[in-house]
Amino acid sequence: MPLGNGDKNARIDSGDQYIESLRGRNLRVFLFGELVEEPVDHPMIRPSINAVAETYDLALREPETATVESSLTGKRVNRFLHVAQSAQDLVAQNMMQRKLGQNTGTCFQRCVGMDAFNSLYSVTYEIDEKHDTPYHARLKAFLEEMQEHNYVVGGAMTDVKGDRSKAPHEQDDPDLFVHVTKRNQDGVWLKGAKAHQTGCINSHWIIAMPTMRLGPADENYAIVAAFPVDAPGITYIYGRQSCDTRSMEGGSIDVGNAKFSGQEAMVLLDEVFVPWSHVFMDGEHEFASMLVERFTCYHRRSYVCKTGVGDVLIGAAAQAAEDNGVDKASHIKDKLVQMTHLNETMYATGIASSHQARPTKSGVYLNDDMLANVCKHHVTKMPFEMGRIAQDLAGGLVSTAPSEKELRHPELGALLEKYLKGRADVPTESRIRILRLIENMTMGRNAVGYLTESLHGAGSPQAQRVQIGRQMSLDFKKGLARRLAGVDRSDEE
Ligand SMILES: Cc1cc2nc3c(=O)[nH]c(=O)nc-3n(C[C@H](O)[C@H](O)[C@H](O)COP(=O)(O)OP(=O)(O)OC[C@H]3O[C@@H](n4cnc5c(N)ncnc54)[C@H](O)[C@@H]3O)c2cc1C
Ligand code: SF4
Repeated sequence: MPLGNGDKNARIDSGDQYIESLRGRNLRVFLFGELVEEPVDHPMIRPSINAVAETYDLALREPETATVESSLTGKRVNRFLHVAQSAQDLVAQNMMQRKLGQNTGTCFQRCVGMDAFNSLYSVTYEIDEKHDTPYHARLKAFLEEMQEHNYVVGGAMTDVKGDRSKAPHEQDDPDLFVHVTKRNQDGVWLKGAKAHQTGCINSHWIIAMPTMRLGPADENYAIVAAFPVDAPGITYIYGRQSCDTRSMEGGSIDVGNAKFSGQEAMVLLDEVFVPWSHVFMDGEHEFASMLVERFTCYHRRSYVCKTGVGDVLIGAAAQAAEDNGVDKASHIKDKLVQMTHLNETMYATGIASSHQARPTKSGVYLNDDMLANVCKHHVTKMPFEMGRIAQDLAGGLVSTAPSEKELRHPELGALLEKYLKGRADVPTESRIRILRLIENMTMGRNAVGYLTESLHGAGSPQAQRVQIGRQMSLDFKKGLARRLAGVDRSDEE
């Protein structure tokens, strides 16, 4: 089936078809100060494309895990394009996310769009209810189109934000938050920049959303709009990752994870036109905080993805210990138990949040916000501790190993095989490969996904503490304590 290079009507089923669908889009992508001719063929970009491709291939291999019957059409669609009809749908998302983390060892990029659709589904319904607007029907039509083609949709919430203490309209430069510059009978024009956009170049469409609570003076910033990734007026500036140029050296050892990586880029919008059919909020500023809170509610428990990646790290740490001949030592076993306990704690809170989902007015299910925030708050810390333990078990060679070129060197190769041996029956190259994987996940390019994204993605730690604080029901809990302690405050109450 001909895909990409302009055939926008084709349906994408396999990872290979997805990769082909990205070709020939003439995107304006900058990397190292130069325009990238074809991102698909760039050795530094390709591993991130492979990670998204795995979301398609998993759906073919395990349809129960990664596909579901669409509530809009009754057809089977990729789970990343489905709005949750039950708590079980949300649980199934989490199980798929863990599996994809296990399969790729990185961020597979497709969840931001999924969580954007789920949150927008209820928010557009409630905006329409108040303002008699047509957003919900437009969103459903757009989602149906995405399902039909099985497209990847990126979610662009985070603005560059300038002075963090100021609202959008208070900034010296009005472009520090994405906003509408012009409207006519056909649509709107957008200007501004979105930062840290996961998988944006690997997507077919992007949905831009406001990043924070907005007031009446920020009306032009209260915009939700979808546009194709190759829309005129967009420039992408590729985000560097630690050790990323190792992908351009050839070889498969030093990269640690040769096949998969994540992707972030800055998205600059210079008067990007969006027709009304793809506008899902325009000016209803009082709904911006509801959208941000619902989006982050979904997205913060989506971070169970990190437990799939954590499974890989636990496996790598255990393998490194085995390769060193110390796997039977009690402290090693205990440290692996500790890693597993941390990993399952994150998973437990995320999946519990999904299990406790409740329907919104629109019918879409929304997971439990307190537990989602607790999950994400764990995720801001626990992968760092897991990375520390993995490096402990790995030994110093995780950061001092020689390059693949030395391992292959006619003279040095044999010497390294001899001197870098752990257990006699484990080839030195196997030992080094595992150490490079640990390096990749804790200091290399996939540490972006495993560590920094865990910290800041879906909101920095303080954002979760604020949400937890809002919902901790202290008056209710003090009442429980007073009742059991026999403190009578009935006068005041
Ligand atoms: C790898 C990665 C992937 C991401 N993917 C996406 C994506 O796909 N889509 C998307 O929309 N976003 C994405 N994000 C963005 C993410 O949501 C933001 O990084 C996060 O919200 C923090 O914003 P920031 O990076 O601008 O940091 P800042 O806002 O600069 O925060 C830095 C510190 O300042 C504190 N701070 C910020 N504002 C205030 C304030 N007003 N008062 C007091 N303290 C403050 C924060 O708590 C934090 O400690 C991604 C981020 C990363 C790192
Ligand atoms: S960080 Fe996790 S939840 Fe977010 S897009 Fe990547 S894999 Fe999905």
